Amino acid sequence: MTHLLHRSIQSDLPVAARGEGVFIYDRDGKVYLDASGGAAVSSLGHGHPDVLKALHAQLDTIAYAHTGFFTTEVAEKLADRLIEDAPEGLDKVYLVSGGSEAMEAALKMARQYFVETGQPGRRHVIARRQSYHGNTLGALAAGGNALRRTQFSPLLIETHHIAPCYAYRHQHEGESLENYGARAAGELEDKILELGEDQVMAFVAEPVVGATSGAVPPAPGYFRKIREICDRYGVLLILDEVMCGMGRTGTLHACEQEGISPDLLVIAKGLGGGYQPIGAVLLSGRIFEAFEQGSGFFQHGHTYMGHPMAAAAGLAVQDIIRRDNLLANVMAMGAHLTDCLAQRFGQDPRVGDIRGRGLFQAIELVENKETKAPFDPAFKIHARIKREAMQRGLMVYPMGGTIDGREGDHVLIAPPFIATKTDIETIVDRLGAAVDAATQSIGRA
Ligand SMILES: *Cc1c(COP(=O)(O)O)cnc(C)c1O
Repeated sequence: MTHLLHRSIQSDLPVAARGEGVFIYDRDGKVYLDASGGAAVSSLGHGHPDVLKALHAQLDTIAYAHTGFFTTEVAEKLADRLIEDAPEGLDKVYLVSGGSEAMEAALKMARQYFVETGQPGRRHVIARRQSYHGNTLGALAAGGNALRRTQFSPLLIETHHIAPCYAYRHQHEGESLENYGARAAGELEDKILELGEDQVMAFVAEPVVGATSGAVPPAPGYFRKIREICDRYGVLLILDEVMCGMGRTGTLHACEQEGISPDLLVIAKGLGGGYQPIGAVLLSGRIFEAFEQGSGFFQHGHTYMGHPMAAAAGLAVQDIIRRDNLLANVMAMGAHLTDCLAQRFGQDPRVGDIRGRGLFQAIELVENKETKAPFDPAFKIHARIKREAMQRGLMVYPMGGTIDGREGDHVLIAPPFIATKTDIETIVDRLGAAVDAATQSIGRA
C-alpha cells in the first residue's frame, strides 16, 4: 500500500536504502551496480564524501534566500565556474531546478531576445523527431518523442520537427557519413524557408541524443552545417545538453567535439550529479545585451531558482570532476566500454548497432541484423531487459520506440565517471546475461 503516485502504478519497486560509489543498496541488502547513473544523472556516483561535506557546510550557512531579495556567494561562484569553462560566446548563467525548467527558460529567452531586438514576428521553434527536451508543456512541445506527446497534443504550442541525424537508420547505402550529415542538416534550411526566414526563432537539438533513441552521436560536420544555417537566417541555436553534457561524453560540453558554440546551452542532470535538483541555461553575451539594453530584465522566474543548496551541489560536483581529472577517466573507461561491448555484442545477431561517446553508450536491438527489422513492440523487449538486469543487480536504461516512438529498442549505459575497468567488465557481463534472458523469454535465444 502506497500513497505515492509512482511513475508506473503496477510497479513493485525495491526501496533504495543507501548509496556508495557506483552501488545502490536496497532495504533488503541487495546491491545494484548503477550503470546508468539513474538517467545519466549520477556523474560522481553515490555518497561522495566531498560533496556531502560541501552540502553540510552550505546548510550551516544559508539554505534558502529568495533571488528577488538576495544573491548568494555560492550561486555567484557556480556561475563564475560555469562561464570559465563555457563554450565561446556564452557569458551568463540562469540557474533553475532541472532540465525541463531550463528548457522552458531557454525558449522564453529566445522569444524575448527577438521582441527586444525588434523582430517580434519570430516565433517558430524547429526541433527534431526522436528527441527529448523535457515534460513541461513548452519543453514537451519542442521534443520529438511521439509517445510522450500524443495525448497532450491539444495543449502543445506549435513546433516543427525535422529528421534527426541518425546514421544507423537514415544513412543511404553508398552515402558517406559526411554527405549524410550534410543532407540531414539541410532539412533545417528547407524548414526555415518553408516557415518564412524571418518567422523562425530557434532550432533545438541534443548534440548526442539521449533517452529517446539511445546515445546517437551526430555525423561529422552535421552541427557545423547546422550552425551555418542558423547564422545565415538569424535563428538562435539552443543545444540541449541536459543528458549528454557536463562531462558525460568525455568533454565537459558535448558541443566541444563538434567545434561549435550554441547561443543558448541547456544543462542539468550531470551538473549536480543527483545531489540536488539543479539545471541551468548558459546564454550568449549578445542575448544578455539585448535584455540589458531593452527591458532590463528577463521576464521569468521561479521560487527556487539559484537555490543555495543546489548551487553548492553543482559547485562541489564540478570541482571534484576537475580536481580528480575525471574527464580523462570518462575517456579511458569509455574506450574500455566500447571494446567490451564490441567483444560481447559485436557478433550478436540481436544487436544491430553499438554507439555513443565516452560513458554515454547504447546498443540497439534488432530482430534481424540484415534488414535491421526491430522486435515486435508488443514484446517490450526493453522492459524485459530492464527487469532481467535488475534481477542481476544491474541498473541500465532501456527504452522502446527508438526508431519512431513506437518501434525499436535500445539500452543506454551511462555509469558514473568514477567507474573502474572491473566495473565496466561487470556491467557488460551482466548486461549480456540480461539480454540473453530477455530474448530467451520471447523464444529468440
Ligand atoms: C532529462 C532530460 C530533460 C528534462 O530534464 P528534467 O530534469 O527531467 O526536467 C531535458 N532534455 C534532455 C535531453 C533530457 O535528457
